[in-house]
Amino acid sequence: MTSDASATPDANVSTKFGANSETPRVIRMHEADNVAIVANDFGLPAGARLPSGPALRERVPQGHKVALTDIAEGAPVRRYNVVIGYAAEPLPEGSWVHERRLVMPTPPALEGLPIATNNAPLAPALEGYTFEGYRNGDGSVGTRNILGITTTVQCVSGIVEHAVARIRAELLPKYPYVDDVVGLEHIYGCGVAIDAPEAEIPIRTLRNISFNPNFGGGTMVVGLGCEKLQPERLLPAGLVRGRGASPAQDYDIVTLQDPSHVGFDAMISSIMRTAEQHLQRLNRRLRETCPASALVVGMQCGGSDAFSGVTANPALGFASDLLVRAGATVMFSENTEVRDGVAQLAARAATEQVAQALIAELGWYDRYLARGSVDRSANTTPGNKKGGLSNIVEKAMGSIIKSGTAPISGVVPPGERARQKGLLYAATPASDFICGTLQLAAGMTLHIFTTGRGTPYGLAAVPVIKVATRSELARRWHDLMDIDAGRIATGEATIEQLGWELFHTMLDVASGRRRTWTEHWKLSNALALFNPAPVT
Ligand code: CA
Repeated sequence: MTSDASATPDANVSTKFGANSETPRVIRMHEADNVAIVANDFGLPAGARLPSGPALRERVPQGHKVALTDIAEGAPVRRYNVVIGYAAEPLPEGSWVHERRLVMPTPPALEGLPIATNNAPLAPALEGYTFEGYRNGDGSVGTRNILGITTTVQCVSGIVEHAVARIRAELLPKYPYVDDVVGLEHIYGCGVAIDAPEAEIPIRTLRNISFNPNFGGGTMVVGLGCEKLQPERLLPAGLVRGRGASPAQDYDIVTLQDPSHVGFDAMISSIMRTAEQHLQRLNRRLRETCPASALVVGMQCGGSDAFSGVTANPALGFASDLLVRAGATVMFSENTEVRDGVAQLAARAATEQVAQALIAELGWYDRYLARGSVDRSANTTPGNKKGGLSNIVEKAMGSIIKSGTAPISGVVPPGERARQKGLLYAATPASDFICGTLQLAAGMTLHIFTTGRGTPYGLAAVPVIKVATRSELARRWHDLMDIDAGRIATGEATIEQLGWELFHTMLDVASGRRRTWTEHWKLSNALALFNPAPVT
């Protein structure tokens, strides 16, 4: 594994193949690569002659790799100028190179890495970019104006779900400046080893989500009464920006076991009465012009294919650099998808402390996986492989590109709030729902999600901009995908052009000038907490 993975495709990648879909087209990421991926929509048949010479020995599906030269058994297979595996059998030129024909490399060591050796700040700064956001008392800025209802325990979920439906139908129409009401339901709160050291991760996740900037600072909690995660443990008084001196007055809480609740209707009425007080407050919030530096963007990929690392993620990396240059906070995540690029990331750390924090998080995650008798290779899915990604090394190289080229200015442990500007590594599992939940806790107000296979993933608390890696997916899912990055592969747009388009789309969506498809259809996944501690 090289640290200078040079995992940025050539700027002129789009000129390497024509727009005629009948002409065999392949994409090679680096001149040292001995494989390229087939770009044609439905793959290429045996006998198809590639622009670089060899003819295919067998049919190769779209996004899958073809050997550009003869590769001997045991010889390295390079993509992104990185060894993604070793040939498990002789691979003559024109062969289909898939996961069963590759032996995966061992993970790079976490010792002896280059530390903060490649961290020159990006220049020049981008001035003058703004969005219309909601300013909060703590200095944060929201992109939506939402009533979030925090819950302490899964037991209350059914009641809260019922109450939220009634609030939406009966109260929201009276408060036109409030976008939505969201019940923050989850499976934590009881039946868990709440004093285990690692229980702090799910607890602080829930706490920090309650303070997500899109919820406007006020907190409303629905609890049961007898649960392990008592409200004062979830929201310690000193942390609650609040309205009273005693912990009980720092936030509004509805306790379902309260003796005053006689029957179901009494519980629903209590929740609705409390919700209405918060809606009155939220309804007075108005959008103001804010600098782009107030944005907190979370980046993620899911349902990835071999185009993720060619089209959508490089464009997102370009956009991420623009955000950093504009002074914003941008997070990338997904531990198992950066593990094989750790040398590149340690070198990009702004300081030695940041590098050590990154290495510590990845080391902790290695041990977490080992406890379950697996390693980072457990990440890849059948769909990833069908999409041409042979193993986690290849997937990681395509995933990491979305972090652009900026120095990494901080590391956010799972469930913690991001407190710095610039490019941050938020250490989370790669699971879409868990990563999204942890980025919400970190204070994300806008989410960018790239997908190649296609997923209807969404979050209720923030807008999610969906980017398709291939035009075929963007056409088929025309009312689910917000941006078609496949235009990079067909030569209709460059990485730079699409990066700028993403940047402007983020400002438009953050301002509420544009709604995403997940908002249009109200698609949202449940919160999924990361709980490495035991349950009881
Ligand atoms: Ca993911």
